Order: sequence, then structure tokens, then C-alpha cells
Amino acid sequence: MTTMANHLPTAELQALDAAHHLHPFTNGHELAQKGARVIKSAKGVWLKDSDGNEIIDGMAGLWCVNIGYGRDELADVAARQMRELPYYNTFFQTTHAPALMLARKLAELAPGDLNHVFFSTGGSDANDTNIRLVRTYWAEKGQPERNVIISRWNAYHGSTIGGTSLGGMKGMHGQGGLPIPGIEFIDQPNWWVEGGDTAPEEFGLERARQLEAKINEIGPDKVAAFIGEPVQGAGGVIVPPETYWPEIQRICDQYGIVLITDEVICGFGRTGNWFGSQTFGIRPDIMTMAKGLSSGYQPIGASVVSDEIAQVLSGTDFNHGYTYSGHPVAAAVALENLRILEEENIVGHVQNVAAPYLKQKWEGLLDHPLVGEAKIAGMMASVALTPDKAARAPFASDPGVVGQICRDRCFANNVIMRHVGDRMIISPPLVITPDEIDILIDRARLSLDECLAQLEADGLNRAA
Ligand SMILES: *Cc1c(COP(=O)(O)O)cnc(C)c1O
Repeated sequence: MTTMANHLPTAELQALDAAHHLHPFTNGHELAQKGARVIKSAKGVWLKDSDGNEIIDGMAGLWCVNIGYGRDELADVAARQMRELPYYNTFFQTTHAPALMLARKLAELAPGDLNHVFFSTGGSDANDTNIRLVRTYWAEKGQPERNVIISRWNAYHGSTIGGTSLGGMKGMHGQGGLPIPGIEFIDQPNWWVEGGDTAPEEFGLERARQLEAKINEIGPDKVAAFIGEPVQGAGGVIVPPETYWPEIQRICDQYGIVLITDEVICGFGRTGNWFGSQTFGIRPDIMTMAKGLSSGYQPIGASVVSDEIAQVLSGTDFNHGYTYSGHPVAAAVALENLRILEEENIVGHVQNVAAPYLKQKWEGLLDHPLVGEAKIAGMMASVALTPDKAARAPFASDPGVVGQICRDRCFANNVIMRHVGDRMIISPPLVITPDEIDILIDRARLSLDECLAQLEADGLNRAA
């Protein structure tokens, strides 16, 4: 049997990694100099690296390990499914129990009449599916010219050609000549950076009404859909003002455009309900799912669509699908993950225990000299670092320089916290206990202290 190379010394693993492994979202040259951190095993909310360090995972991997690491039940289900039926496709009028049972389960969990599931292998390709799906939907309804999808600057919808195009990250668009045609953008509801003197509630309305203005600019009969994350995740955990989503909903209803919520992060308990749409009172026509769907134990994603959309689509051959759509092992593991989420009432744990406690501790960071804003929605949270809280001022250094210093201190202190520009973000496993939240916050605070000391020493604690 193949043995994994975990017994090798860290330096050797790092050298092999640097020689052959191209990493996502990483500067290869810098990584080769520093050497990658090698993660060896994990249990609950704890990672262990190749030097034996115990690291608390404030990011649940990449926002996905909702039930925590090391659940044997998922490994057992995967092994059993691999022995019984390791693979079969769902093309050309075939199916198997794992795919159909997972589709039924998602129809039961998803709100409203979202009762029909198209499977993918992750969030990016689920959003690719959504582009083709909504355009096909409108073509089938006799309105093929309705093909523009409106998204938001600084949104993240994945890294494929379609996902990158729907996303609003200019640095990503710049690589590969994106977005594809027919994608338009409005501004994000990021009050801290862009709100100026406007009150947050008013700002939320203003940003939502950009959607209406954009629809009228393009022509209401040309707009197919609007897509948004209930809370922008990779954009920096931007929690919108309360006024934002109701106004977006009103506009989508009024103009009859398809509303897609990208629940890849917000889904499966992250915001304190099964879906972020429920937390923010949104009634989507399509939801994108991935990440927490399997708690990251297997790669799987889904587009879940309304009765009406499924009905219209069923009138044609939808010439689209992935070899691994509804993969039996991934589907079986996702089902087991959902069983655990449900039977252990993990969403209830978030609502009643973890989220209220994390909120209290997280907002406590506001007394730190570097922290200007602390935002939280369930179990995803962010703080804005600033040299001048009252002025909501950015640092004089390039965006991300301070964030990177803070993140490096977190890394050294064995807590995984990410930075987006000069915002620090967390999204821990949902099963985290109050004691573990204390450890997470203590290490975050220590890292902020050390970051501040370094900024002072380097003369970086200055406003632009
Ligand atoms: C991670 C993410 C995606 C992309 O999912 P992948 O599984 O990486 O393809 C899409 N949308 C959102 C909101 C995400 O956070």
C-alpha cells in the first residue's frame, strides 16, 4: 500500500513541495524561500503540523470544516461506498442512491420551493452551472436576450473562468482576460471603507439601489439574474447593513430577475441558520452550495433551483454536466455530514452557545488600539485594522502590508486567522467550544499586540 511521506523531515517535505507543487493563490518564489507549513493531522478544531505544533484552526480549513476534523463516521461511510459503488455517472438517465438521497435531503433543508439539485464538484463549477442555467432558462422562456448577470465588486464566486467572471476581484480578472461578456458589477455594501459620512442603514439602501440603476442602464429586458453572497466571505467578511438585502429582494421581485444567493460559505449553519438567506430574510430562486455541504471531507457542490426554474429547464436537453456530478462517494459523505449536523443539533449549538459567546469575545477586541470595526454574523467575523479609529483611516502602507504582518504573528502564535487587505477574518469550525473560543481570542489578541509593536518599531502605524 502507498504510504504517505509524513515520516520525512519537514525540510525534505518542503523541498519536494517547492520542486513540484504549484500552489493556488500563492507567490511560488516567496513560498520556496520560506517553505510551506506542512499539516499532518487534525482533530476537532485543532491542526497538527510536521513539527508537532498544535494550531487552532480559526478558518475551518477554507471556511468548510463545519463539523470539525476527525469524524470517523465520514471515513467509514466513504470506505463502505467505495467498496459498493466507487463511481458511476448521473448522465443519460442513470442514477444511484447516494445522489438521489442527497438531492432529496437538500430539497428538504433548502427553504421555499428550492427543490431541485444539480451537482458539481465545488463552488466555482456550481456557479459556472448557474451562468449556463439562468441563460438557458431565459432562452427557454423565449427571452434569449435576457443574458446579463449582475454581481458586485469584491465578491468571490470561485476561480474557474465563470466563477472568476462572476466574482468582482480585479486582481483575478486581470489574469486571463476576464470577465466573460455579459457580467456587470455594482458596488459592495462595505460601510467601513466606502460609507463616508452616510449612516450605515442609509448606505445599505444606497448600495442596494445601485442594482435598480444598473438594471435600468442595461435595460430590464436584458437582465437575467443578480448574484450575491449573503455575507461576502473572501472579500473580508463584509456583513451588510440590515437595510441592504430587503431592498435587493424588492428590486429582484419588481424586475422579475432571478436571485442567486451564493451560500458556499454561509450555508450549513455558518450564520446561525441552515442558510444565510434565512438569516438575512432573502428568498432566492437559486442557491449555490459547496464547502460545508460535506464539511470539506469530499469535494462536492450544488446548484439548488426553484420548482419554476426546474420546470422550464425540463423542456430542453441541458447540455451540461461534470463527470463527477453527484459522485457517489462525495454524496454519501455529504449525507453523513448532514446527518451529524442535524442529529447533533450543531446549528442549535451555533445559535445558542458558540455564536453568542464568540460575538461577545470578538466585539471585545474593539478595545484594542488597532481594531476599528468588529463585525460578526454567526460564526464568521472580521476586524478592520486602522491607525485612526475615529477617521476610519487606512494605513499609509499599501493595503495588505499590515494585514500580512498580523497574519504572520497569528501563524507564529499557532492560530489560523486570514487577512484580506488590512482586515483580519475568522470562520472557525461550528463545533468550537467556549473554552476553545477563549484560546482563539487570546492568541488573536496576542498577535494583535505583537503586530502593533512591530508597526511602531517599523514606523508603519500611520494613516495615509
Ligand atoms: C469558496 C467559494 C466559492 C468557490 O468554491 P470552490 O469549491 O473553491 O470552487 C464560490 N463562492 C463562494 C462564496 C466561496 O466562498
